[in-house]
Amino acid sequence: MRIDLMTLFPDMCETVLNESIIGRARKKGAIEIYTHQIRDYTLNKQKQVDDYPYGGGMGMVMNAQPIADCFRAVCEKAGSRPHLIYMSPQGTVLTQKKARELAQLPSICILCGHYEGVDQRVLDAFVDEEISIGDYVLTGGELPALVLIDCIARMVPGVLSDEACFTEESHYSGLLEYPQYTRPAVWEGREVPEILLSGHHEKIAEWRREQSLIRTFRLRPDLLEHAELTDKDRKFLEKLKMEEKNI
Ligand code: SAM
Repeated sequence: MRIDLMTLFPDMCETVLNESIIGRARKKGAIEIYTHQIRDYTLNKQKQVDDYPYGGGMGMVMNAQPIADCFRAVCEKAGSRPHLIYMSPQGTVLTQKKARELAQLPSICILCGHYEGVDQRVLDAFVDEEISIGDYVLTGGELPALVLIDCIARMVPGVLSDEACFTEESHYSGLLEYPQYTRPAVWEGREVPEILLSGHHEKIAEWRREQSLIRTFRLRPDLLEHAELTDKDRKFLEKLKMEEKNI
């Protein structure tokens, strides 16, 4: 997969994207990520990328021209037009399902806004969708874009060592993940659940599924409405509901 990122702060993004799992995945070629400085596409001597808003009001608005030219250059470099996402607090809130859909695409391009935002005309002309990382406002689209890239990248084949690393995690199947434990078996008097030391893979899988259901039922019951559940899961949830009523 190829991801292009259009930003006024490519160094800030590169710092994060060169670290850890994503950094290693980039190095071994499992994913291509390119950052582009929007300022390089300005046509004025001062390299100014923003201006006062028409109609007055606070702050500055990013000009359409450098963003449009930057995107055209990305299309040329990529050899085709990528799906363009604008990070915006007005967009659809990011979910695992959305990230999973985007991870299937061959290429995406992400636009990071700054200041008061971006001239609406360039958004109307090029943007395919707007994505928000939550109902709050940040100073720029860089952190939201990095969140989106991280979430997508770990579902791209070859980025994580094994697909099970993300298919068993919270939200992938619509449930929260079971609790995790590592060595030592006893830490400050607290023991790891015995079943996990039994070596009985089938029973461990059953216990983990039940723990996932219990956690989701207690912490995020709203998720159960859309989760992928088996008949056995449903029976187990009924039992949980009954127990809750009897408490
Ligand atoms: N004036 C805009 C509004 O009220 O909708 C907010 C602009 S915000 C200060 C500057 C930039 O940060 C936006 O253009 C967007 O790219 C990014 N941004 C801020 N909050 C975000 C969020 N929750 N999700 C995604 N992007 C966000």
